[in-house]
Amino acid sequence: MKRKIAILGSTGSMGVQALEVIEALPELLEVEVLTANANADLLIRQAKKFRPNAVVIVRDDLYSYVKEALWDDDIKVYAGADALPQIVTMDSIDIVLATIVGVAGLKPVYSAIEAGKRVALANKETLVVAGELITKKASENGVDIYPVDSEHSAIFQSLAGEFHNPIEKLIITASGGPFRGKSKDFLATVKKVQALKHPNWQMGNKITIDSATMMNKGLEVIEAKWLFGVPVDKIEVVVHPQSIIHSLVQFQDGAVKAQLGLPDMKLPIQYALTYPARFQNDFPRLSLTDCASLTFEKPDFEAFPCLNLAYQASKKGGNAPCVLNAANEISVAQFLNDEIGFLDIPRQIEYALSVFPFSKPTTIDEYLEIDKEVKLLIANKK
Ligand code: MG
Repeated sequence: MKRKIAILGSTGSMGVQALEVIEALPELLEVEVLTANANADLLIRQAKKFRPNAVVIVRDDLYSYVKEALWDDDIKVYAGADALPQIVTMDSIDIVLATIVGVAGLKPVYSAIEAGKRVALANKETLVVAGELITKKASENGVDIYPVDSEHSAIFQSLAGEFHNPIEKLIITASGGPFRGKSKDFLATVKKVQALKHPNWQMGNKITIDSATMMNKGLEVIEAKWLFGVPVDKIEVVVHPQSIIHSLVQFQDGAVKAQLGLPDMKLPIQYALTYPARFQNDFPRLSLTDCASLTFEKPDFEAFPCLNLAYQASKKGGNAPCVLNAANEISVAQFLNDEIGFLDIPRQIEYALSVFPFSKPTTIDEYLEIDKEVKLLIANKK
């Protein structure tokens, strides 16, 4: 039986790599739905090649353009952000691969879980913002969430066969990003061209900036808390600049298990789609003797305050991680627009966390409302 996949965000960096994985395993995987935000041309090319049942273009104004292009192809075309939570409930979908960036992924993922779909999750903001609600709904509906983030995939792979053994500690590795070892004074001057040059990973702009501030690691700590049910004070971040060890699990007898590999997102994508089986592929292989050395260091919490802000927000709970995420999303967008400096990103997040009223949301809509309010708060601050 083929697994039919809906890719939310198929034109982004992760979506494109997911399509390469699917193309290489035609006997197992098949594209059922593709969705894109605004890259209509790539969506059309992908649709003509992979022949999905349906596509969604989120930007309404591009609907007729996509519809006309796919007129003869017998592919259904929908438009608008509201189409995403609807399309994921389609009977024929087996797996929803959520690669949408940011809080925009929240509603579609929640809807997929409500519909009982297996979720391959590359959108970390979903669990950061509403981890409690999402994991509760998933367990009620018997839905498994498979991590696609390389660190969480590494932990998940290390946990295979160990699911009943208590975890003593999770160790999440971080490359340290382009500014590893730099001082706060240096960081005050950096521009987006520098921040967008990640040493190891090819990713979209938002996550690349998150890596430069180390907020990406903070979000991953919160994501890990929900995925694996481990409190954040038992999740340690270790900087490992070579990105070969993707993360580790320490069990209560002191044994530490890890997953290693070259920095390539295709492996975690494939594992999330083919789990529990592993399939042969032609991805480049890791050669240990080609790695000059593997090194490890403590993160610099002083130069990269975002990491600590994420720990604090997670410990506080309630709406705090949602506030953190919203303030981060708008600050990263402002930085990419050259409106604020690099260190204004943590400054604005800290401000939002200190002034925004604490609450304990119980619905997705409440979280989305808070997200909107926090973004307005930051936008009007200037
Ligand atoms: Mg990651």
